[in-house]
Amino acid sequence: YSTAAALEDPIKPPVTVQYDKLLINGQFVDAASGKTFPTLDPRTGEVIAHVAEGDAEDINRAVAAARKAFDEGPWPKMTAYERQRILLRFADLVEKHNDEIAALESWDSGKPFEQSAQVEIPMFVRLFRYYAGWADKIHGLTIQADGPHHVQTLHEPIGVAGQIIPWNFPLVMFGWKVGPALACGNTVVLKTAEQTPLSALLVSKLLHEAGLPDGVLNIVSGFGPTAGAALCRHMDVDKIAFTGSTETGKIVLESSAKSNLKPVTLELGGNHLLLFVRMLMWTKLLSWHTLLYFSIRTYVHEKVYDEFIEKAKARALKRVVGDPFKAGIEQGPQIDAEQFEKILKYIRSGKESGATLETGGDRFGTKGYYIQPTVFSNVKDDMLIAMDEIFGPVQTVLKFKDLGEVIQRANNTRYGLAAGVFTQNLDTANTLMRALRVGTVWINCFDTFDATIPFGGYKMSGIGREKENTVSRITCK
Ligand code: ADP
Repeated sequence: YSTAAALEDPIKPPVTVQYDKLLINGQFVDAASGKTFPTLDPRTGEVIAHVAEGDAEDINRAVAAARKAFDEGPWPKMTAYERQRILLRFADLVEKHNDEIAALESWDSGKPFEQSAQVEIPMFVRLFRYYAGWADKIHGLTIQADGPHHVQTLHEPIGVAGQIIPWNFPLVMFGWKVGPALACGNTVVLKTAEQTPLSALLVSKLLHEAGLPDGVLNIVSGFGPTAGAALCRHMDVDKIAFTGSTETGKIVLESSAKSNLKPVTLELGGNHLLLFVRMLMWTKLLSWHTLLYFSIRTYVHEKVYDEFIEKAKARALKRVVGDPFKAGIEQGPQIDAEQFEKILKYIRSGKESGATLETGGDRFGTKGYYIQPTVFSNVKDDMLIAMDEIFGPVQTVLKFKDLGEVIQRANNTRYGLAAGVFTQNLDTANTLMRALRVGTVWINCFDTFDATIPFGGYKMSGIGREKENTVSRITCK
């Protein structure tokens, strides 16, 4: 990895925090309680800003604003073309401020700046353009009913959408959730993750500059059990869209059942799978592997297992870990002390349960939340490090003999989010893309996303889909 010494003196981010309050009815306001919470720099654990901490009363105010903006307009009453133009203007503004937004995102989340600036903010822009395109293309049907009737179906906005997002992709998640809701004429109350509240507030300013009417998007920063829970049980919220852990997803669904039965979509945990069959595909794998924090359960065919381990270890050792604001950094710090400790605990559990630690296995440097890229071999299906979603730079490598066996093992999990397959055999690819019980299968590519591709899991990885209500099978061209 790069030298840990360089971490002692973090680079000054090229951005300042301008917005740290709640966004309610088009105004930045303090929390009703006057409380704030600190958001921390994952490079050092030091405070970036004190952010207004929303709670039930702020959720009430935000929902009332969203309710009014929905019931009285103008948003759902505007023409779809007008809404589309606002969203497209917003995308242009974000593009113009790309590097400033990327810097704030990286500062708050610890992501390499180059990744934010070159991948995630452009993806955010793409998402808004994609959804803006939908605004005036949502059609109903006419139906030939028996009797003297003319029947038509309409797609209508659902109303006030409560949306809750996690810290792993703060703005991309904002795009996935807020983009489609606004395009269709809904109004929104968004609860951002407590670890990463800043970037959403900055872009919301641009969204108003683009012409979004007051009250259409409201943002309440704060914590899950307080602000998040208040949103989920609110009687005036018409739908909840949640991304986060499976555990919290269950609580969200329960709150809906206990309040007004609002429909809930859940995009939950999932331990990405990787099936690797031919060594010839190594270079191809590498080309997709550079951006990953490799929390992946990797099944490797026994014939190529040893060579794979050697190569994975060498790659992990070469991975450039460091200050996200330095050029060429592949891996920044983990988001916060809690995740950092959780990952180290998984690493300890891997060692204790008898997996072989090939490389890494400890913190990187002495400051902040950096962790060494870690590779475990001789991992068994029933070890915690194979079963859980680690959310850190830990690759667990398992061995398999034949296809039938690996399909059975791969599917023997509570989750079913996504899997990648590297093979040159067409039959293997065809078989696996149907046999794997996951929402997304990538063939000879990995973790590739686009605004057009549906995403979401089987089983305990969620209910419903982002984008289209289907699953995706993506083959590398
Ligand atoms: P993660 O492991 O990604 O932090 P969480 O499910 O804990 O997963 O958090 C995802 C989002 O859900 C965050 O915005 C968090 O504040 C929110 N959240 C946590 N607990 C609750 C809850 N009881 N009700 C509603 N939202 C919650």
